[in-house]
Amino acid sequence: MPFELPQLPYAFDALEPHIDARTMEIHHDKHHAAYIANANAALEKHPELARKTVEDLLWGINQVPEDIRTVVRNNAGGHANHSIFWSIMGPGAGGNPNGRIADALKTTFGSYDAFKEQLQKAAVGQFGSGWAWLVADRQGKLSIKGYPNQDSPYMDELTPMFGVDVWEHAYYLKYQNRRADYVTAWFNTLNWDAINARFGSVWT
Ligand code: MN
Repeated sequence: MPFELPQLPYAFDALEPHIDARTMEIHHDKHHAAYIANANAALEKHPELARKTVEDLLWGINQVPEDIRTVVRNNAGGHANHSIFWSIMGPGAGGNPNGRIADALKTTFGSYDAFKEQLQKAAVGQFGSGWAWLVADRQGKLSIKGYPNQDSPYMDELTPMFGVDVWEHAYYLKYQNRRADYVTAWFNTLNWDAINARFGSVWT
C-alpha cells in the first residue's frame, strides 16, 4: 500500500472549542482514510507509480495514466491536503505568528491582519467544496489561492504552506452554514511552531 493514514498528532478534542471532537474524528478516520483507500486502489492498477510520493504524483498529474488520473487528482489530492491540514493545527495555538512566517506574512501582505482578511475572503468565497491556501512559488513568493474539490497547489507547481478546508464535512456539525465563523475560529488553531518548521523544510 503506497499511502498510509498519518496519525493525528493530537487528540480528537484537542482543537475544542474551535473544531469539535466529533468532526475531527469523522474527518480524520473516515474522510481522510477514504481518500487514501481510493488512491491506493487506483494505484494498484499502475504498480509503476507505487513508489512515487504524493507530491510527485500531483506535480506530474498530467503524466498519470488517463484511466486513473481523475481518481488520483481527487484522492491523492485529498491525502496531500489533509496531511498538511492536520500538521499545521494544534492545541493551545493561534494568536499572532512568530519567527520566519511572521516576517514573511508582514513583507508579503503588509500585516498579519491583512493576510487573515485575504485568506478569510478566499475561504468564504470558495464556491462549493474546496480549500484556501497560502502557497509559495518556486522563487518563494507567497500568495493566497483558492482551490475547488481536492485540487492541490502542487498541480500548479506551487507549494501549499498552510490552509483551510472549507468542505462542509470540516465544519457542518458545529457551524452548520456559518462557514465564516468556522474560518474565524480555525485561525485560533494555527500552530506557528509547526508552520515555521514546515517553512524551514520547503521554503528557502
Ligand atoms: Mn476535509
